Amino acid sequence: MRKRRFSAGVSASPPGRWSREAPAMTAREGRPLDRPIILPGHDSDNRALPFAIEGMDVRGRAVRLGTAVDAIVTAHAYPPAVAGLLAETLALTALLGSLLKEDGVITVQAKGSTRAPIDFLVADFSTPGDLRGYATLHAGPDDVPPAEDAALGELLGAEGTLVITLDQGARGQRYQGVVPLDAPDLATAAESYFSRSEQIPTALRLAAGRDAVSGHWRARGIMIQHLARGGASGPAASEVEQENWRRARLLMESVRREELLDPQLDLETILFRLFHEDGVRVFEPIGIAPRCRCSRARLRDVIARFSAADRAEITIGGEIVARCQFCGKTYHFDPAEFEG
Ligand SMILES: [Zn+2]
Repeated sequence: MRKRRFSAGVSASPPGRWSREAPAMTAREGRPLDRPIILPGHDSDNRALPFAIEGMDVRGRAVRLGTAVDAIVTAHAYPPAVAGLLAETLALTALLGSLLKEDGVITVQAKGSTRAPIDFLVADFSTPGDLRGYATLHAGPDDVPPAEDAALGELLGAEGTLVITLDQGARGQRYQGVVPLDAPDLATAAESYFSRSEQIPTALRLAAGRDAVSGHWRARGIMIQHLARGGASGPAASEVEQENWRRARLLMESVRREELLDPQLDLETILFRLFHEDGVRVFEPIGIAPRCRCSRARLRDVIARFSAADRAEITIGGEIVARCQFCGKTYHFDPAEFEG
């Protein structure tokens, strides 16, 4: 019964798209499969999966980042707590980016208090699925709490802020929301962004950690939003709708960190475990890759805006060397390029 509900949602997608998952979901004991089951945890990484909970007016996204997040985080030598928070921020950014209906960029920035170990942390997602990010520290690595899962306040201080910016390239629209980082974790801070800035009831879970065997970073996230029929959500929604939302929220919050990070559990399995009683339908996943938008031309434009005196100051050994903070790539310029 439960399995049938889930596979009904899956088979509603265009045929063939779910051929990898379908045999694993529907196979019965003793019946030989006509194709091999691919164990989850490998090619199901690096994607965001849109889903809907049938009958509850709830839409959501789940994201699973493996090599994509590991490549971004390990491009820099961060203390484990900073790497962990950056990995969670990347999962949050991918969740938000996967909501974009047209071309654009979502940027998530966390600014630390003056005395906090982290000065600045940023991740951005540009359509269709390019992800990047980096962090800068106020102090040396010795001043960062040693635990991989240090609390948000320990890393960003009590007066940190979370800034979420949406740039929609084609129309040139820009929207920015700022919320204080006075929450116990990043997911809670992001929820308060949604309730203050977007007024859409939203619940989020984020997790990041290193694989016990390989040591590779991975990050996961689940987000649900209440989009009630007729457009009424929040306090304006009917009692039944509000009850549905409370229930969906409780179900989502029942997911444990270890479950989210378990390499053997793919997103479909986690969603099925959480919401099978109400019927969950999944849609076409969005592929996510670690890709930086830096280019020689962009950095050249930045340097061209400097005064001649400032350019002279950064000229060392007859050249200007600029390094992309996101990916670490270096670009070399001849100062003569900027004269005249
Ligand atoms: Zn770059």
